[in-house]
Amino acid sequence: MFLSVQINNQTYQIDSTKPLDISIPLVFNGLQPSIYGVEKASAEAYEDEHFVGDTRRGGSCNFENLRLNPHCNGTHTECVGHLTNERISVQNCLQEAFMLAELITVAPENALETDETYSVKLDENDKLITKNSLKSAFRNPQSAFIIRTTPNDDSKKSRDYSLQNPPFFSLEAMQFIVESGVRHLLVDVPSLERLHDEGKLANHRIFWQVEPDSFEINPNTRLNSTVTEMIYVPNEIKDGLYLLNLQIAPFAADAAPSRPLIFQILSD
Ligand SMILES: [Zn+2]
Repeated sequence: MFLSVQINNQTYQIDSTKPLDISIPLVFNGLQPSIYGVEKASAEAYEDEHFVGDTRRGGSCNFENLRLNPHCNGTHTECVGHLTNERISVQNCLQEAFMLAELITVAPENALETDETYSVKLDENDKLITKNSLKSAFRNPQSAFIIRTTPNDDSKKSRDYSLQNPPFFSLEAMQFIVESGVRHLLVDVPSLERLHDEGKLANHRIFWQVEPDSFEINPNTRLNSTVTEMIYVPNEIKDGLYLLNLQIAPFAADAAPSRPLIFQILSD
């Protein structure tokens, strides 16, 4: 089905039957990406004295308890509730079903070879996604910004990020994203932050406009903005403008597993 979507007085046409899925499927008990060494997302048949939730074991249907940590087990979308004492839910913050998104590809730089900064001391193993690299790849600020980092391959779907330092954003890069008016940021790294950042979460605080070291929102806080981490954008998908449908599980929680779908724009 072809859909025409009007955004800011411009009409964009997409084929709704051809979504490009840039999430990582969450394979319970199977191969998954992970960070901080947390337990794998797991599934276990519900069982009581009268019933077993597994048809292979004689149950009438499959009926499993699932266990996961949305921040660590795969593609997830989070809101400012990640930082605040007040419990704020991602399903309340994300109000846009469709939005324009620009996909770009950037090469993280050796942190000690740039003049951009971060909240804790950097070392020779750190790789930074810099403002400089974003600026040269970024064409038109849109509601959403999708960042693919190189090198890019399928191993991102099952990588254990606690064994290596994934790239992260410089403070200047995050400030640039906010100043560009981007409300939804989607990245293929497991976090905006360095793996160990002394708990500062400086980039998350810049993105949502929460004061350093604060656990409270303020009048400038970007309540309706979201961050999606651990996406995977296959190399066949070209950089450019897309229509994004950011689907999340309706969890009343700061983060939820998500499935961002992007649609090629056929005409505008
Ligand atoms: Zn997260």
